[in-house]
Amino acid sequence: MDKARIRVLPPEVASRIAAGEVVERPASVVKELVENALDAGATAVDVEIRDGGLSLIRVADNGIGIPRADVPLVFERFATSKLQRVEDLAAVRTFGFRGEALSAIGSVAEVEILTRAEGELEGTRARKRPNEPPIVEPAAAPRGTQVTVRNLFAPVPARRKFLKSPLRETDLVHQVVLRYALTFPEVAFRLTVNGRQVLTLPKAPPVQRIGQALGRDIADHLVEIRWEAGDLRVHGWISSPQISRATRDRQFFTVNRRPIRSGLLAVILERPYAGRLPAGRKPVAIIDIDIDPRFVDVNVHPRKAEVRFAQERSIYWALARAVENALKPFPTQAIVEVGEWPFAGAPVGEGAPHIAEGRASYSVTPRALAQLHRAYILAEDEHGLLLVDQHAAHEQVLFERLWTTATQPHPLSTPVLLHLTPREADALTELLPTLQDIGIEMEPFGANTFALRALPAPLIQADPTLAQMERARGLVDALLEEAHTYARLSPDALKERLAARVACFAAIRAGDVLNGDQQQALLDMLWDAWSPATCPHGRPAFVALSLEEIERRFQRR
Ligand code: ADP
Ligand code: MG
Repeated sequence: MDKARIRVLPPEVASRIAAGEVVERPASVVKELVENALDAGATAVDVEIRDGGLSLIRVADNGIGIPRADVPLVFERFATSKLQRVEDLAAVRTFGFRGEALSAIGSVAEVEILTRAEGELEGTRARKRPNEPPIVEPAAAPRGTQVTVRNLFAPVPARRKFLKSPLRETDLVHQVVLRYALTFPEVAFRLTVNGRQVLTLPKAPPVQRIGQALGRDIADHLVEIRWEAGDLRVHGWISSPQISRATRDRQFFTVNRRPIRSGLLAVILERPYAGRLPAGRKPVAIIDIDIDPRFVDVNVHPRKAEVRFAQERSIYWALARAVENALKPFPTQAIVEVGEWPFAGAPVGEGAPHIAEGRASYSVTPRALAQLHRAYILAEDEHGLLLVDQHAAHEQVLFERLWTTATQPHPLSTPVLLHLTPREADALTELLPTLQDIGIEMEPFGANTFALRALPAPLIQADPTLAQMERARGLVDALLEEAHTYARLSPDALKERLAARVACFAAIRAGDVLNGDQQQALLDMLWDAWSPATCPHGRPAFVALSLEEIERRFQRR
């Protein structure tokens, strides 16, 4: 048996291990190359990839370039032009400072650098294959640097197994470019995928850049945030409560313009949105925290995604203040001006339905024009166009009426007898007092049988068939469908939930044909509601398109 021997790893092995930390996937190569371009003061960065980055990654910039004498050094580990002394490490403001990226990339791919430094008449080309020294020669080149990476991970096929599909890897590269583009609006970015230009972002003012990168819908609903305390500065843009997203995919945090990931920053950002966004929805944010570099330990993670703060508390505090301040003009109930996109939900704590406290102020009831696809009512008012979801609108109307006028139950001329299974009977018995509260009177009538004696007046008006056996049975089924979730609700929350369930069951559905009078009647009722902007579940009941917006879309302004 061989005796164990301690061996020093050959340098090419050591560098491949390090490479694994820096170069995980094509997107991490793109990240390093884009950072180098930005460190070089580029005002235009061009990224091109093929096959998810595996066959080709090319990043070209118009930065300061690399002097010919320095070119052979860039592939050496710990060769960097960005740090001279140990003390500098504490004060780095550039992205790179480890001198690791190009050496790491050079050990797992073929790399070609074409560059010309400011003040040099002739450029330089360097070609390097894994485990071979670079070949350096004069070449014509524009000012700046172009780095081409071919056959990524060919020498370490095992790494390729950890990659996702080319489509997904492309998506990750796209995310990287977007991230830097959002943080550096003064720099032009371009992304080309398989020969097709997918992102073209000319230099622009910050909000315009956000529009280019994330779309007009987001850019039109941004609120600037700003907070300064000592040498700490929080600055950026957050979405107004009129828009939101299902995930945090549009939250971008940077510290001294370095992208970071911090779950806690997201939590602090989202707290002031409580009551302003429907439950579970996430705001958009593009936020930079500027802080003396000595307080940030960027050396924690090889990919520098996580940043450790020496001043964590004051940063979180400043972010919270900045966001709270910016959201102050937005009330925590669903008051939505006509002419805006009323995506803001009522404060539906834990998904429970809710009646907003204030009455929304709408001057005139819109005029119904037509029914669209048997699901929406098209209407106009003096501000523009409205699109009303007929089910959500009616649901909200009924819900509010059940809530406020349910104390006047309407007795049925003949009680309806409902036969249930023992389990259903048990569940329904639990609900009887709360149902009574919203005007539904039912009482036990022998074994597992209940007599429905009264229904709330608004329900009977909306749907007289509810007083018939089959529909009444359907209503009970709808109520019991969610019975397993009722136990943990407070009495008030249970009342809201049952009222919402009943409203949903009795409301006009998508697919119901409405004539002109019925369309108008529904609009009249909705405009008379306390909280017409949303249905009891927090979905919008209507969306509005202002004349300005319409004119803008037709490029009249
Ligand atoms: P780091 O960025 O940590 O210094 P890299 O391996 O990424 O290390 O780059 C090594 C050196 O190569 C840099 O310090 C810089 O001098 C030079 N360099 C790399 N890319 C560029 C570029 N696009 N423009 C100018 N110089 C560059
Ligand atoms: Mg670098």
